[in-house]
Amino acid sequence: MSTDAPGAARALSTTCCIAGGGPAGMMLGYLLARAGIDVVVLEKHADFLRDFRGDTIHPSTLEMMDELGLLDDLLKLPHNKVPKLQVTIGSTPVTIADFTFLPPRHAFIALMPQWDFLDFLADRARLYPNFKLIMQANVTDLIEEGGRIAGVRATTPEGTLDVRAKLTVGADGRKSIVRAKAGLEVEDIGAPIDVFWMRISRLPGDPPTGGRIAPGSFFAVLDRGDYFQLAYVIAKGSAERIMQAGLPAFRQIVAKALPFLADRVDELKSWDDVKLLSVSIDRLRTWYRPGLLCIGDAAHAMSPVGGVGINLAVQDAVAAANILWKPLKDGTLTTFDLARVQHRRTFPTRVTQRLQVLAQNRVVAPVLRNTGSTTMAPPWVVRLFNRFPLLQRIPARIVGVGVRPEHIRSPAAPVR
Ligand SMILES: Cc1cc2nc3c(=O)[nH]c(=O)nc-3n(C[C@H](O)[C@H](O)[C@H](O)COP(=O)(O)OP(=O)(O)OC[C@H]3O[C@@H](n4cnc5c(N)ncnc54)[C@H](O)[C@@H]3O)c2cc1C
Repeated sequence: MSTDAPGAARALSTTCCIAGGGPAGMMLGYLLARAGIDVVVLEKHADFLRDFRGDTIHPSTLEMMDELGLLDDLLKLPHNKVPKLQVTIGSTPVTIADFTFLPPRHAFIALMPQWDFLDFLADRARLYPNFKLIMQANVTDLIEEGGRIAGVRATTPEGTLDVRAKLTVGADGRKSIVRAKAGLEVEDIGAPIDVFWMRISRLPGDPPTGGRIAPGSFFAVLDRGDYFQLAYVIAKGSAERIMQAGLPAFRQIVAKALPFLADRVDELKSWDDVKLLSVSIDRLRTWYRPGLLCIGDAAHAMSPVGGVGINLAVQDAVAAANILWKPLKDGTLTTFDLARVQHRRTFPTRVTQRLQVLAQNRVVAPVLRNTGSTTMAPPWVVRLFNRFPLLQRIPARIVGVGVRPEHIRSPAAPVR
């Protein structure tokens, strides 16, 4: 890595420059640094602290952390274990996924604030002298030379920063500047839902993490220790109508769907306590250009359905590190290597997005449209899950482990 003298437009050069310090960017940064490769990660925010990012670490990610020898330390951070996923449909509870048949160290979803997970990765990565994380560095453009992406331009509190790199990685999420500036074509798959996120305090004796489905209403309830993180799924575009009806009416929706919270809905004091997140599903037709690769949501925006987005992003990072560490180290990187990453990750991405679309269109959207009835019972297929608990392993494997799970193949250089 090199830095120009202060005063001039600042410049760095490195082997791999990663735009975005989310799950994909931080994991790739860590793995490449661990393999002895110079890495610069640019993150536009000053910290990782963000409310209502996905906070689910699935068995597949836990297993990779175990392969890295980091699992025990990670699980020392505050988290809640979810060994089974239960959904209450009408008034009938159904266990739809049971992770307990998986290897015991990874037989649950860990609910952990994403900023804790990212801070953890950043701390581990910083042990390598060849790792550099620059916060408040907002990537605004790509540096292009002779048809090849040769780095990025970012704005920082100290002024403009140019980072030149043999490989630039766009890990800057679903509104990726990198993919837009690279002109990579996006295939919009669409999502019929948006989500209101909020938190309400949790008291002893309250029900565990799960879903609540009733006519016209779909809630995910996540136990975060002393509070619940609530996701209220709504039909796309209906947020304005709901907000116009006023906060008291909104509190009533929450109280009706989740009666155990009826005495606490007043904690939603203003619309500032309720965050609207727009859901999209899309993917790039081609994830790369000479000198550039996109991974994570920048390559394929995921819906919150199944809470798999973080885990897929991490898997992309692991696959990218497995395939790219050696050509990066040897200085032999070609566009073909980048194509190999897309080739490896396209199948799991397509299958997962397909399942999310199916769940959105066949399960969530019909529930939201069904505002006429007052009662609701689980369909017979879903009832089978309670009668034959072995069936609960199928969704557990799909959600918890996923398609083509990755394993760590990149090497570890000695830490300082
Ligand atoms: C409403 C909603 C709820 C979700 N809930 C879950 C869940 O519970 N579990 C789950 O697994 N997934 C969930 N997802 C999906 C999940 O959030 C994403 O799939 C996942 O975070 C993708 O990781 P990433 O690293 O690719 O991108 P991101 O997490 O989006 O990270 C991108 C990073 O890049 C930074 N960045 C952006 N632009 C720039 C720039 N120009 N310069 C520098 N840095 C930049 C951002 O600040 C961010 O830190 C949810 C998605 C939505 C929409």
